Amino acid sequence: MSDKQSDGHGNLTYYIIGAIVAAIGAGFFIPEIAVKFKVGGEVFLSLLMMMVVPLVISSVMSGILGLGDVRKLGKPGGVAVGYYMCTTVLAVTVGLIAVNILKPGVNKELAAAKEKWEDATGDEKVKAEEELNALKASIQKNLDDSASSNEEAAHAVEAENKRKDAAKNEEAAQERKQEAQAALVKAKEALAKDPEKESLQQQVIEAEANKDSADKAYAKAVAQRNAAGEEKTIWDILENILLMLVTDNLFKSAAEMSLLPLIVFSIIFAAMLTTMGDKVFAITRMINQANAALMSFVMLLMNIAPIGIFCLVASKFGEANLEGKLAEMAGQQGFYIITILVGLGFHMFVTLFFAYWFFTRKNPITFFKNMSQAVLTAFSTASSSATLPVTMECAVDKAGISEKSTKFVLPLGATINMDGTALYEAAAAIFIAQIYFPITGQDLTMQTQVIIAVTATLAAIGAAGIPEAGLVTMLIVLNAAGLPVEAIGLILMVDWLLDRFRTAVNCFGDSVGAAIVDGYMEDDSVSSENLEPEGAGA
Ligand code: ASP
Repeated sequence: MSDKQSDGHGNLTYYIIGAIVAAIGAGFFIPEIAVKFKVGGEVFLSLLMMMVVPLVISSVMSGILGLGDVRKLGKPGGVAVGYYMCTTVLAVTVGLIAVNILKPGVNKELAAAKEKWEDATGDEKVKAEEELNALKASIQKNLDDSASSNEEAAHAVEAENKRKDAAKNEEAAQERKQEAQAALVKAKEALAKDPEKESLQQQVIEAEANKDSADKAYAKAVAQRNAAGEEKTIWDILENILLMLVTDNLFKSAAEMSLLPLIVFSIIFAAMLTTMGDKVFAITRMINQANAALMSFVMLLMNIAPIGIFCLVASKFGEANLEGKLAEMAGQQGFYIITILVGLGFHMFVTLFFAYWFFTRKNPITFFKNMSQAVLTAFSTASSSATLPVTMECAVDKAGISEKSTKFVLPLGATINMDGTALYEAAAAIFIAQIYFPITGQDLTMQTQVIIAVTATLAAIGAAGIPEAGLVTMLIVLNAAGLPVEAIGLILMVDWLLDRFRTAVNCFGDSVGAAIVDGYMEDDSVSSENLEPEGAGA
């Protein structure tokens, strides 16, 4: 790692912090005015997003070209993937510990009512049971009222419910079909014994008609179930992750901002270029120059970051205030928010700080200050992908991480390494289980916790680096743990806020990864400048 690391977080960081504080104040006190800044926020976000695809392609390619030989990626690549896996598992563990200790979902009122019912006798018991049931019913109602503040999640819940209904219908239709078949066999047997009897002949005709209609109903139910799709299981997530690596159309992936196939393509393409020598000199130089120009563009954009961030945060907090979401933060939801924040805080300031110090022997606080603009941008945009240009800029220019590491570790990390999301998904699923299981009488077993841990890890890898993507993959975790998908309504209202914090952790986790991998980069790699012909101007 180069010695360029400084604590030059500069005034810009303070301007950004000031902008966030002012924006939150505006959202609280003058929400009607705060929401008017939405367009400014959207412009800033679009400017960042606009650069993501060209920056990912050019930086990954330029990174590989800088290595000179793709085989040199082996060791740092292995370290990067190992780091992603270890920190994600640690994050999930921290999330599970936090939610199990703080128990934000455990309803004390319900526990007390249950105890009262258990201790009561005679008339008291009847009364206590009524109270207990009323309480359970009100909690159930909360679960059912899945307020849909996230359109995508609401659609996913709707699709999931349709799928469940279709599966139930299919089962019923199949039963009817079997019954009709059995009735027909019986009627035919009876007729065989007494072929002349008219009533038996009539029964066979009716049984045949009945079977015919049951067959048709079954075929229809099967078609409906097929159309509604299969239940998403852990295998589906694995399959999805594998499929996410490739694409049949690069332009479609670029348009949808699915970065993984673009990264895979860029690695292979650049690897090919490194084997072609002088013949590809022009394109090699063009890639490096385009990358350098895009990075300058990011630096320019950072000058307006405080304004853009103010608009983004003010409009989001203002909107949340007007929609009554801020009020949600009292009571049980507040305790849930605190639990997630404690977990995220521990992971960021203890686990990641320690990992950074352990592998680089440098001061994690200085590193955090150097990366603070990226962390604050992640908080403001709630998108790791949109923050990527800023993360790269801070990593190279402020934290002094070599370009070689940042160019492939950060784009890959922004796509698959999401510690904050993994921690959040695990903790949120247990929170829901803590609320839901006492109503159904189920126990929160170790097995359920393990299932939640594994699915949360995979769901985080599969989540896109966009706002509230974790909420959508959360449905898979709930399904796997046997929790009702509607229960997502319990966490929807505060997700917009938690998303910001977990995105900040995702982004910081990627930066620590780049710093660690930097120590494993071979020093003899070809630098971008060496690819230029002598005397060629950049
Ligand atoms: N918004 C997060 C990110 O971009 C993903 C999520 O957890 O929803 O990193």
